[in-house]
Amino acid sequence: MRTQVAIIGGGPSGLLLSQLLHKAGIETVVLERQTRDYVLGRIRAGVLETGFVNLMREAGVAERMDAEGFVHDGTLIAYDNEQFRIDFAKHTNNHVVVYGQTEVTRDLYNARDAMGGTVIHGVSDVELNDLTGKPYVTFTHDGQSKRLDCDFIAGCDGFHGPSRQAIPLDVRREYEKVYPFGWLGILSETPPVDDELIYANSERGFALCSMRNANLSRYYVQCSLSDSPDDWTDQAFWDELKRRIPEDAADKLITGPSIEKSIAPLRSFVTEPMRYGALFLCGDAAHIVPPTGAKGLNTAASDIHYLYTGLVQHYLHNDSNGLDTYSQKALSRIWKAERFSWWMTNLLHRFPDQSAFDIKMQRADLEFLRDNDAAQTVLAENYVGLPY
Ligand SMILES: Cc1cc2nc3c(=O)[nH]c(=O)nc-3n(C[C@H](O)[C@H](O)[C@H](O)COP(=O)(O)OP(=O)(O)OC[C@H]3O[C@@H](n4cnc5c(N)ncnc54)[C@H](O)[C@@H]3O)c2cc1C
Repeated sequence: MRTQVAIIGGGPSGLLLSQLLHKAGIETVVLERQTRDYVLGRIRAGVLETGFVNLMREAGVAERMDAEGFVHDGTLIAYDNEQFRIDFAKHTNNHVVVYGQTEVTRDLYNARDAMGGTVIHGVSDVELNDLTGKPYVTFTHDGQSKRLDCDFIAGCDGFHGPSRQAIPLDVRREYEKVYPFGWLGILSETPPVDDELIYANSERGFALCSMRNANLSRYYVQCSLSDSPDDWTDQAFWDELKRRIPEDAADKLITGPSIEKSIAPLRSFVTEPMRYGALFLCGDAAHIVPPTGAKGLNTAASDIHYLYTGLVQHYLHNDSNGLDTYSQKALSRIWKAERFSWWMTNLLHRFPDQSAFDIKMQRADLEFLRDNDAAQTVLAENYVGLPY
């Protein structure tokens, strides 16, 4: 087989890149390890920056998102039973859209099908070869060994995929911070407790009230890394959540059975460079953020923007500048999203080794944010997304 761009990974990064390139007349083949149902069953991100929304529109897959997504022009921050609002519209004249990653992925798969895009599911043994010469990917599918020749490879295969590992160790630099807690999340078919997200810092730990649609809510509480979802009954989860959010929110919280319950560890991670020869890393393959700033999926989208425009310049205008500067441009934005996610995580969580002094500093930071317009603008600008 031969294609112009081989894309490893059929998550949101790989599918969005494939769809955008196909619309620009550039051929792709997407190789995905899992079945489509498995990919669509993963419950993950749900807050989209305007940059992401615009890319979905450019890719021609925005119809359902525009009809069903919730525009949020602010968010609530709570601590010690107090709460204040960050007004995105006032500080940035911008907003975010709440629309689940599962729905984004479903829309992208439907669009790939409608355009006759090639997505091969159930591949294994994926290997990237001759990255600084004539690149090709080998893999196993239906018990047969296959070879895919290409001009470029987009490594969109998430944190555990093989693409990042294909960059030699003497070239690759990795930066990592692992946080000493996780997030226990549940999804329930209940109306959200508020029209806006509530980020809560309580003495019992962090909590987040968020939603996917008018009758689907996503709630999280900070938990120990040694916890397992089975340790938490639904009742124990709801009781703990209510203790961590302001009383008026707790009073109006509608609870119900969880339809999904999972624990995600929190990590900050960046690999540099994001290009090696013909290989370009995108999304979780290159970087991870703790979900506190809602940046995971959005940083994936900004990588796709830079790579897509670079590939269009290369194929349609015979100009390699976009590809040559891909790693530098993508990383410049990534590190700012890393900083914001790290800062939000530090502001809102309880750390096991936190001293009384550290807690006072956290509280001072929250009060400063509550009272200071400039500090709110900084948060709002980062939350709605820095420009590409
Ligand atoms: C549990 C969890 C919860 C999250 N919650 C949030 C959140 O609340 N907010 C937020 O902003 N972000 C969240 N994120 C992050 C966000 O979901 C990711 O940033 C986003 O999925 C990145 O998209 P991606 O396409 O780069 O990677 P992925 O979605 O990981 O997709 C990679 C794809 O590559 C495939 N793959 C892997 N290995 C191979 C292989 N060897 N061969 C072929 N294919 C392969 C995988 O099956 C997968 O489909 C969460 C992530 C996780 C794991």
